[in-house]
Amino acid sequence: MTVATPITPAVLTLPRALPAAERVNVVGLTREALAAALVAAGTPEGQAAMRVSQIWQWAYHRGARDFGAMSNLAKPFRAMLAERFAIERPETVTRQVSADGTRKYLLRIDGGHEVETVYIPEEDRGTLCVSSQVGCTLTCSFCHTGTQRLVRNLTAAEIVGQILVARDDLADWGRKPDEKRLVSNIVLMGMGEPLYNFEAVRDAMKVAMDGEGIALSRRRITLSTSGIVPEIARVGTEIGCLLAISFHATTDAVRDTLVPINRKWNIAALLAACRAYPRLSNAERITFEYVMLKGVNDSDADARRLVKLIAGIPAKINLIPFNPWPGAPYERSDPERIEAFGAIVNRAGYASPVRTPRGEDIMAACGQLKSASERARRAAGR
Ligand code: SAH
Ligand code: SF4
Repeated sequence: MTVATPITPAVLTLPRALPAAERVNVVGLTREALAAALVAAGTPEGQAAMRVSQIWQWAYHRGARDFGAMSNLAKPFRAMLAERFAIERPETVTRQVSADGTRKYLLRIDGGHEVETVYIPEEDRGTLCVSSQVGCTLTCSFCHTGTQRLVRNLTAAEIVGQILVARDDLADWGRKPDEKRLVSNIVLMGMGEPLYNFEAVRDAMKVAMDGEGIALSRRRITLSTSGIVPEIARVGTEIGCLLAISFHATTDAVRDTLVPINRKWNIAALLAACRAYPRLSNAERITFEYVMLKGVNDSDADARRLVKLIAGIPAKINLIPFNPWPGAPYERSDPERIEAFGAIVNRAGYASPVRTPRGEDIMAACGQLKSASERARRAAGR
């Protein structure tokens, strides 16, 4: 006769720990998504919103990576979180520091893919340049990323994860609301076209802008697009951050060659979307980025056409000296040319700051990003 082994109730009620790969990564989930995941894991519905706030503050104000440290949560709840959830960031493969203090991180994400993130310290701010895709589907002829085909969109977790990695490295956690933060601004100007990954970018920026999340004001976040016209209004209505347009040319003939998406949405269509931009005001001007390419788009006539084209749009014009990369088919305009171009724009009443190239020695400047592995693959294939 076999005797059944008695099973004690204690064994039956023990929470089952999930294997690491199946745990839900809290990073990048919207408030609603995290609340739903907590409820699915047994948290009473009435408590979910408060638990989200508590977990967010630990993860995003103090940089906690471990639920065990969350001392204002009950022990059994912490144990449940540790068994079913995780607080994960991408893995840092390399970190390079430029002579000018710019830092470039090469990060590995799921699938073995790699993205780059750049931190640019300045006197009055610290800007993190965040990627939205691995590679880019677009093929702007002056952009190094454009020579790498799109591998995939980043998830919201991977976009927020870039911010967490930089703040880990800079020890930028636990600062009071009035204290100076090292990562004070975010620009979506790394690899990829953010408006071709709208939902993930939006969800990530919601975490970045939430007072209990990364807690950066929406005016400290700028999204740059090459001109995906149908998505532009959504930046204003669904995210609310500042908008930058990669303009770069004053005739369709030239813009077609520099920013090929212009063949789909030309200058007139792009400017119509800018004029209709929901949040447009003098306090929240659109930035027009303009890469200065020697002999291609940098004449006085270009400068005059530019101010005529954008007339009436509250705008500033950011002149970006071209940053070279191996095999690039362009040269940077001379400093005198950039100055003369800027003076015309200025006389028309627009601020026209010239963007100082940063981190050139580590290939971290605008348009120089491209996964190192991809570079190596190409070199090997040649
Ligand atoms: N895909 C988006 C955002 C990333 S690029 C976009 O195109 O707007 C950020 C800025 O750097 C864009 O204005 C882009 O046109 C510019 N850029 C790209 N390659 C560059 C290069 N080699 N030198 C200078 N600026 C460059
Ligand atoms: Fe893509 Fe922007 Fe580079 Fe164009 S400039 S290829 S849109 S990353």
